[in-house]
Amino acid sequence: MTLMDATIKAELLSIGTVDVEETLLPPPRTSTAGPGMGRQSIFFASGGLRIRLEVDIGSPLKMVRKNGRVVIQRGNQDMVEGDIEPVVAHCPDQVYITISERCIYNCQFCSVPLSQGKIKTIDEILAIVENAKREGRLNVISLTSGIATSPDDEIDRVVEVVRALAQYKVPIGVAVHPAANSSRRLKDAGVTEVKYSVETMDHEIFDRVCRGKKGHTQDFILESLRDAVQVFGRNHVSSNIIIGLGETDESVRQGVEFLAKMGVIPVLRPISISHLRKEALKTATRPSPERLISLSKMTRDMLEKYNLRVDLSQTMCLACTGCDLTPVRDC
Ligand code: SF4
Repeated sequence: MTLMDATIKAELLSIGTVDVEETLLPPPRTSTAGPGMGRQSIFFASGGLRIRLEVDIGSPLKMVRKNGRVVIQRGNQDMVEGDIEPVVAHCPDQVYITISERCIYNCQFCSVPLSQGKIKTIDEILAIVENAKREGRLNVISLTSGIATSPDDEIDRVVEVVRALAQYKVPIGVAVHPAANSSRRLKDAGVTEVKYSVETMDHEIFDRVCRGKKGHTQDFILESLRDAVQVFGRNHVSSNIIIGLGETDESVRQGVEFLAKMGVIPVLRPISISHLRKEALKTATRPSPERLISLSKMTRDMLEKYNLRVDLSQTMCLACTGCDLTPVRDC
C-alpha cells in the first residue's frame, strides 16, 4: 500500500488534473472559489496529506476503485491509495464562499472575470453556513471575492457579510484585493486572517499579467500586506505567489524572503491554466515535481529564518493545503 508523501503529492500537483471513474465522482459541483472557479474538482486524502485535483477526462492520471480502496494510477501503474474527501462548501474542513463571482480586472491567470457570475446576497451566504452548521461541520469560514465594481465597494460588501457571520463564532479568513484601510475595517468586523495576493513578485510579469488593475499596483498590494501584519499580527497574513508564469526560482526566492521578512506567509500556488486562458498564457507551464519540492523547502527554511508558523494558520489555503505543497504541513 503506497500512501501519499511530499514526493507523490508534488508529482500529482505538477499534473493538477485527474480522470475520475464515473462511480467515484461526487455530485456535479464546480469550484466557485479562486482561479479554479468553474471547474469540477475532487479532494483526495492519504498518508495525512490532502490534494485537490481538477476533474478532466484527458488527464494522464486516473482515479479508480480497486479492492475497496480509491487508487490514483498513471499509465495503469498504481501511484497512491487513499480516500475521497467530502467537502463542506468548496473545501473539506471549511465553508469557503465566493461572494462576488465576477471581477472588473482581468488578470490573465484567473477565470473569475470570464464567468461574470452572480453576487451572493447575505441571505444566500447565511443559508450555506446554516447548512454546514446543521451537518455539524461548521468549524471555519473562508471568504473570497472578485471585484464587482471597485476594491473599496468590495471591502464594504465583505465587511457587511463578515458582520452577519460573526454570530457563528468561528475563525473567519478573507482573501480579497486590498483597498485603503481594508485591514482595519476587516479586523473590526471580525475577520481572523487575511490574504492579499501579490500573485507574482516579478515586476515585469506582474505588469503583463495583471494589467488593468488601475491604481492597484504591486507596490500597493505590498504596502497593504505590511499594514495587514500590523493589524492582524504575524502568522495571520498570507499572499499567493503563482508558480509557472515564467518567473525564475531566484525571483521566487527573493519574493518569499521579502514577504517573510515583513511577517507575511507566502503561499506558492502552481498555476492553473484554464482552456479559456490558453492563448494569453502561452508561455505558462505547470511546475515540475522537483521544482515544487525545492521551492517548498526553500520557503520552509525562509519561514523558519523569520520565525513564522504555518501551523498557526486557521483558515483558507494554509489550513486546507489542497492546492499547494504547503511547507511544514506537507514537507
Ligand atoms: S488550498 Fe485554498 S483554493 Fe485550494 S481548495 Fe484549499 S482552500 Fe480552496
